[in-house]
Amino acid sequence: MSAARAAALAASQSGLADVALLRCTGCAAEAPASSRDFECACGAPYDVEHAFRLVGRETFDARDLRSPAPHDSGVWRFLELVYPRFPSEAVISLREGNTPLLASPVLCEFVGIEQVKLKHEGLNPTGSFADRGMTVAVSRARANGARHLVCASDGAAAASLGAYAARAALPCTVLAPAAAHAPAKLAQARAFGAHVVLVRADSERVRALARELAQTEQLDLLDACNPFGIEGHKSTLFELLVQLAWRAPDWIALALENFAHCCAFAKALREARYLGLIDRLPRLLAAGSLRDPQSHGARRALSAIAETRGEVLAITPEQAALAKLAIDRAGLGCDLASAAPLAGARELARRGGIGPEESVVVVLDSHWLGAPSTSLAALPTVAAELGALRSARAD
Ligand SMILES: [Zn+2]
Repeated sequence: MSAARAAALAASQSGLADVALLRCTGCAAEAPASSRDFECACGAPYDVEHAFRLVGRETFDARDLRSPAPHDSGVWRFLELVYPRFPSEAVISLREGNTPLLASPVLCEFVGIEQVKLKHEGLNPTGSFADRGMTVAVSRARANGARHLVCASDGAAAASLGAYAARAALPCTVLAPAAAHAPAKLAQARAFGAHVVLVRADSERVRALARELAQTEQLDLLDACNPFGIEGHKSTLFELLVQLAWRAPDWIALALENFAHCCAFAKALREARYLGLIDRLPRLLAAGSLRDPQSHGARRALSAIAETRGEVLAITPEQAALAKLAIDRAGLGCDLASAAPLAGARELARRGGIGPEESVVVVLDSHWLGAPSTSLAALPTVAAELGALRSARAD
């Protein structure tokens, strides 16, 4: 028996985590499920490898918002798939997930095909997809004995960690690059009680610094590559399958920069197929612009997309802005980065890559309020009388 398997066996007997083990996505080396370090010596991140029990669609169909906690959460509804046998009483939840799958004739017209639906992850508790990963990563960290949580983030993960750390009654530290960050997200993290520190460095360096801090101070790192976070993100796919009565769409469009989503969706599809929950694999479309295609995160995301015979499309800022305008005007709203997948679906349909009879689910990562971008400076302001109001409306 390998050391990792022996440790996994010990962990499962101790009651924590019935996760089989962690496996390196680069060199396939094993690590115990209780490991605090999520990066292999070779530099690649670990993935969680579960020991699944056979579980059918009816288990998940039977649960909804009225189910007892934690099965009322859109993540923990799929407990057997995201963290088999994790103790219910150890779950830290804000009843995340349960996000709507919305049809929009206006956006079908925008893409140029008839079957487009939007999965709006911006409607999670802190306004982004990050909550689905955070509920699992924080639950697991606390059950594993964590005393202080840390993440490097300039956006969604910061606000989400703040909320879940507060829910778990654990202190947390958020490191963000001083030059580029989403002020609304950091303000949110701070409001939840996170210790937010701006660092004069780029996001890559800040991420490395957070890891060093975690290792030297015995803190638990909860960044985007946390393998247990990836497990939580899988629930977005499972939930949309339930919403479609397990009839997988032809395509699922994701933001390319959201590496965690790309990896989680490919992993969830692999596992759903392995367990017989779906009969065929949808193809993943990742759209956006890659800053560093050679990074571990990017290479892993690209291979996840390729695994589904998917497509990767570069989107210009103009195309993304046009898609955001369409989403906002449809009454759904999202931040600019979330609009890239819709722009990608439109571009791929235009090129004939998506057929007119095919169906697409577009995943929106974040709420409009996460990065408000419209100035109110030019709004008409009038005296409080009807005449002035009528002429302002006529303008
Ligand atoms: Zn490795």
